[in-house]
Amino acid sequence: MAKEYDPRMHSAEHILNQTMVRMFDRGRSFSAHVEKKKSKCDYRFERDLTPGERQEIEHRVNGVIAADLPVREEFMPREEAGRTFNLSRLPEEAGETIRIIRIGDYDACPCSGEHVGRSGEIGGFRIISTAYDNGVLRIRFRLQE
Ligand SMILES: [Zn+2]
Repeated sequence: MAKEYDPRMHSAEHILNQTMVRMFDRGRSFSAHVEKKKSKCDYRFERDLTPGERQEIEHRVNGVIAADLPVREEFMPREEAGRTFNLSRLPEEAGETIRIIRIGDYDACPCSGEHVGRSGEIGGFRIISTAYDNGVLRIRFRLQE
């Protein structure tokens, strides 16, 4: 695990991904660099976001944070998990029992990482910038201290 790993950032990444799925239905990020100070997530997309869309994403993510939802882990057999979730990004060593992280009823995602106990611990979410290149939308974000 990276030295700069931050559970707040990682939980924020899950909320951002679910927000992107709900707003655009293009799937979760296919690549992410999550670090304490700032993070970036890459999405398959066909254009950059508009300022209004960036604002809407911030608004929704901050709404989930403000709701202070419980973050819970749950375990299920790989076969069962595979019916509901895309397991392709899980490492092979995840084994036959899959861990699902649920953020209230907003998001559920297979994950082996460390998370906050409640979404309110994340603090404020802000998009630093977005960029588009060759089918990839990159969102850079940070959290308030
Ligand atoms: Zn995760």
